[in-house]
Amino acid sequence: MSNGAVEIARALFTSGITHDVGWRLQRLEALRNMLTERTAEFTAALAEDLRKHPDEAWMTEIGFVCSEITHAVKNLRRWLAPERVPVPISLLPASAKVVRDPLGVVLVIAPWNYPVQLSLVPVLGALAGGNTVVLKPSELAPATSSALARWLPEYLGSAVQVVEGGVPETTELLKERFDHIFYTGNGQVGRIVMTAAAAHLTPVTLELGGKSPVYVDDSVDLRAAAQRIAWGKYLNAGQTCVAPDYILGTSAVLDELARILPKAIEALFRGNPKASADYGRIVNERHLNRLSRLLEEAELVTGGEHDAAERYLAPTVLRAKAQDAVMQEEIFGPLLPLVEVPDEAAAIDFINQRDKPLALYVFSENRQTKENFTEQTSSGALCFGVPAAHLLVPGLPFGGIGASGMGAYHGEHSLDTFTHRKSVLDKPLKPDTMKLIYPPFNGLKHQVMTRVIAPSG
Ligand code: NAD
Repeated sequence: MSNGAVEIARALFTSGITHDVGWRLQRLEALRNMLTERTAEFTAALAEDLRKHPDEAWMTEIGFVCSEITHAVKNLRRWLAPERVPVPISLLPASAKVVRDPLGVVLVIAPWNYPVQLSLVPVLGALAGGNTVVLKPSELAPATSSALARWLPEYLGSAVQVVEGGVPETTELLKERFDHIFYTGNGQVGRIVMTAAAAHLTPVTLELGGKSPVYVDDSVDLRAAAQRIAWGKYLNAGQTCVAPDYILGTSAVLDELARILPKAIEALFRGNPKASADYGRIVNERHLNRLSRLLEEAELVTGGEHDAAERYLAPTVLRAKAQDAVMQEEIFGPLLPLVEVPDEAAAIDFINQRDKPLALYVFSENRQTKENFTEQTSSGALCFGVPAAHLLVPGLPFGGIGASGMGAYHGEHSLDTFTHRKSVLDKPLKPDTMKLIYPPFNGLKHQVMTRVIAPSG
C-alpha cells in the first residue's frame, strides 16, 4: 500500500549520501524553496481544510517552517561538530568524542490541525540529522496532504516519500521496520503507534495533547491577560495542541474575566467572528458535533452559536465545574471553561491530580507564585504571561511528558531526536598501559586498580 516508499527511502539512506552535510543543507534549502515558491498553493490548501487566514497560515505554518529551516541551516555544522570528551588519566593516551549518527529511515505521522508545520518541522529535523523520511500526512486535512504529496517529491526527490491515506494505510505502514517513528496526534493512536513500534524495537517520539490549564491571579492586568488568553485559545478555532484548555481562578478573578473576555473576543474578530476572515472553522462535522454536545448543559458566558453548514462554532466562554463533561477530555475547539478554585494552592493541586499537561500557563506578577508553579508542577512547558509562544523559541525543546507525550524537538533538540549520539574512543596500541589491568593480577596491579583506575572516592 505504501508503493515501495519505505524501500525507496531505505535505498537512498543505504547509498550513504545523506551523511554528507552539504546534501542535508541542500535538502533544507529545497524545502524552503518549496514553501516560498508554492506559498499560494499551501495557503489555499490551508484555507480549504481549516479556513485559515493567509497571515495566520504564514505565521503558524509556512513561515514558521521557513524560520526553523533558517535556524537549522545557520547552525547545522556547529550542531554536528563532534563533541570532545575528556578521558580519565588512567586511560591515557587516548581521545574520546561523541558524534551524531543518522538513524536511517524515519516515519513521520502528522495530524490535521497544523498540517504543514506538524508535517514539515519533523521532516526538516530528520533531514538535518541525515535521515530519509516517509511522511504520512493527515487524511483529515486532505487539501494540504495533497499539496504535500504533489510538491515534496518535486523539490526533494526521493528523500521524503509521502504516503497519503487514513487508518488502513497507516496500519500497513506501521508493520514496516523504521529506525524512528515520530507521531503527532491523540494519545489513543499514540498507544497504537507505540505498540506497533515495539515489534521492531523502534524508538518513538510521541507528540500528544491533553488539557493545558491556565491559572490567573489578581496581581495581573486582567484585561491584558484576557486578550492574550483569547488569542491563544481562539487561534485556529481552538484546534491547537497547546491552546489554553480552561482557566482556573478565584471567584473574584473569574467574575472579572467573564466580564472582560467577551470584549477581548470582540476585539479579535471585529465584533462578528462568523463574518470575520480571521476566525477559522472546525475541521469536520464529527468534531463540530462533539463540541456542540459539550455545550448542551453549559452555563454560557458568551458564544455558543454554531452552524453545521459552515462548520462554524463561535468563540465561547462558559462556567464549569470539575465534574462537567467539558472538563473530562481535551476540548480541542473554541470553548473556554472558567473553573473556580479557592486559591493558588488549590489550583496547583487541581493540576497535579490530572494528566501532566503539554503546556501550563500562569498569569501572575507574584514572584513566589511563579516559583511555586515552577517547582510544584510538571508539564511539557510552563509559560508565564503568554500562551503557545514557547513554540517560537527554537532553543526551547517542544514536547510533552506523561500523557502529553515523550521526546521533544525544534532547533537543536530535533537533532537529539533524529540522530544517535555515538561514543567514539580512540586509544593507540602503544604504549600498552592496559597491561596494568590484565591478569595475572599481583600487588602492583591491585594498587593501580584500586587507587588509579577505579578508586573508591
Ligand atoms: P488525526 O486524526 O489527524 O490523527 C493523527 C495521525 O494519526 C493521522 O496521520 C492519522 O492518519 C493517524 N491515525 C489515526 N488513526 C489511526 C490508527 N488507528 N492507526 C494508525 N494511525 C492512525 O489527528 P488527531 O489525533 O485528531 O489530532 C489531534 C490531537 O493531536 C489532539 O489531542 C492534539 O492535542 C494532539 N496534537 C498534539 C500536538 C503536539 O505537538 N504535541 C500537535 C497537534 C496536535
